[in-house]
Amino acid sequence: MTAKQIPDVIPPIAFRISDLCTLLESYLEIEQVKEIYRAYLFGAEAHDGQHRRSGEPYITHPLEVAKILADMRMDPQSIIAAILHDVIEDTPTAKEQVAHEFGEEIAELVDGVSKIAQITFNSQAEAQAENFRKMMLAMVKDIRVILIKLADRLHNMRTISVLDNEKRRRIANETLEIYVPIANRLGMNSLRLELEDLGLAALYPTRSRVLKEVIRKARGNRKEIIQQIETSIKQRLCQEDFSCRVMGREKHLYSIYKKMKTKQLSFNEVFDVYAFRIVVDNFDTAYRVLGAMHNLYKPVPGKFKDYIAIPKANGYQSLHTVLFGPYGVPIEVQIRSEDMDKVAESGIAAHWFYKSGEGSAAISAEARTHKWLRSVIELQKNTGNSLEFIENVKIDLFPDEVYVFTPKGEILVLPRGATPVDFAYSVHSDVGNTCVACRVDRRLAPLRTPLYTGQTVEVITAPGAKPNPSWLNFVMTAKARTNIRSYLKNLQQEDAIILGRKLLDKTLAYASRKLEDFKKKEIKKMLKEYNYKEIDELYMDIGLGTRPAPLVARKLIPEEKSKKSKNKSAANKGRSNHPLLIKGSEGMVVSYAKCCHPIPGDAIVGFASTGKGIVIHTESCNNVADYKKLPDKWVEVEWEASTDSDFIAELRLDVANRRGVLAIIASSISDMDSNIENIFMEEKDGTTTSMNITVTVKNRQHLARIMRRVRTNKSVSRIVRKKG
Ligand code: MN
Repeated sequence: MTAKQIPDVIPPIAFRISDLCTLLESYLEIEQVKEIYRAYLFGAEAHDGQHRRSGEPYITHPLEVAKILADMRMDPQSIIAAILHDVIEDTPTAKEQVAHEFGEEIAELVDGVSKIAQITFNSQAEAQAENFRKMMLAMVKDIRVILIKLADRLHNMRTISVLDNEKRRRIANETLEIYVPIANRLGMNSLRLELEDLGLAALYPTRSRVLKEVIRKARGNRKEIIQQIETSIKQRLCQEDFSCRVMGREKHLYSIYKKMKTKQLSFNEVFDVYAFRIVVDNFDTAYRVLGAMHNLYKPVPGKFKDYIAIPKANGYQSLHTVLFGPYGVPIEVQIRSEDMDKVAESGIAAHWFYKSGEGSAAISAEARTHKWLRSVIELQKNTGNSLEFIENVKIDLFPDEVYVFTPKGEILVLPRGATPVDFAYSVHSDVGNTCVACRVDRRLAPLRTPLYTGQTVEVITAPGAKPNPSWLNFVMTAKARTNIRSYLKNLQQEDAIILGRKLLDKTLAYASRKLEDFKKKEIKKMLKEYNYKEIDELYMDIGLGTRPAPLVARKLIPEEKSKKSKNKSAANKGRSNHPLLIKGSEGMVVSYAKCCHPIPGDAIVGFASTGKGIVIHTESCNNVADYKKLPDKWVEVEWEASTDSDFIAELRLDVANRRGVLAIIASSISDMDSNIENIFMEEKDGTTTSMNITVTVKNRQHLARIMRRVRTNKSVSRIVRKKG
């Protein structure tokens, strides 16, 4: 009988370091055991004077955790890390000291376990359990951290009875919600089953006790028949010359409880099954043993499952069948090889199964994790089985996601590289639209900072704040991107409506008319002809340059009437007294041509560009000639007396090839309160370099001052403004 049952009482004799050493000597080199003993002395000293709630010296706990891992035949690093697992967290002994004494690898493992302990699962948010599990797996770089943590949790669950009611419930709940699924995902069945049974006992002591009692009685009644079946099976297998182990199996408390609860079955319906496991030398024998079993007792149709050919998602392999036993009792039989049995028991831990002298210590933790994943993938590959599990585990262990906390402790899942802006938008689009700053782990951080798993992020918003177009350069989530875009678009539309109204006014002014002069009926008619519902839609299209204002004006003022007004058609581009004044703060519907970089003081012309609003060029720009063919698109513009924005100007310089010349020029420019936006340099010949510098200026006077100042440098032989 191998099934692990919960001991009714905690064994009175404590497990000692000498016991651990004996256990370790069965699979480790003597040098490795010595090193583990040294870790024990270090740990015992660090925890000296500390006690468990039960009154025992604290070191008994890490020792038990190490034993659990040693039973799984884990590598020496894991055992040492298990012994030291509470040292960083509970004692002043810092990570550096552990690193100094036992090396970086072990320090990282211990640190990893401590970090997990720092995140506490809030049972209020049960829907978050899945995220929490993911977060835990994502936080660790080395899966052994999880194995140590699971062993730690197992021992804490074994000794949970000393805690008070509330704490016991919380820990048991957390165990069932978080740790059991992780153990299951990693295929660690025997550990999972024990955690489940302990969890049930802690959460529902009465139910668990009653169930245990019923099972004990039922087992007594069944003893004889189990013996009888086991003997028959053994005899048959012996006759056929199979080498194998046969054992009776008990259903676990928790699985009985769950089946009764979810399937609404009585205890007898769930329990009235006689279960056996047969472990053979290889998979080939497994199939032959299956044949022998089906020959011994008749199989129940439809119950045979071949998990060897089609393994379970977490890599579990076995043959399952149900037989009609003597007196018609159903017999469940599992048949599998020794290797499969090992995997079925301890899953991923089976890949650490340590054999000394094989150099297996040389295989890195990541390589082993990969090996496990690969083996599971291999198993799944040709079976057409769902790969979803693998995808999940892969994402967990090598994540593309980060898991971060809100200040209230909720977990948000974001893609890797996501920033506080993504975070803000995933909380709510309003939060995103008004965010101005953020704190990451309580420290102010730039909004573009990439987030990492485990961080707590707090967004600072300000009423009336607006999304910044530059956010589009770093946001990772579609939600942030779409929200920012649509906000900017709305903003642009608002700007466009204002501009459109202005443009129409100006154009009508050529004909000495005002929009207010027209009757509602006339305007309505015009809107209808264009198919607009609201006048704002018309303004918007004018503002965006999609519908030229002169055409709209012509529609409002029929030809004969406009002729009366001194034959000056609305499309006439001659200078009038009604140019559109450009201030520089019109928003996204007025832009400045990159070919000629107009600045205040330059003679300028505007051109309505479909969808972009008005683009301003200098009158001398070469491109302007082409636009002359489209008179309806012209907009007469002039600078307002005072502009309130920075404009871009491009300078062309010839400078001597001298060390430090660029720095001198750059500092003269910045001395003049201008910023350099861009520099392009090209060596002309051995003595001269030609430079293109893009700078920000207020107006022509400002630019002239900058150029004068730069020219005072002896290295500069020529400086001109580049236009078009
Ligand atoms: Mn612990």
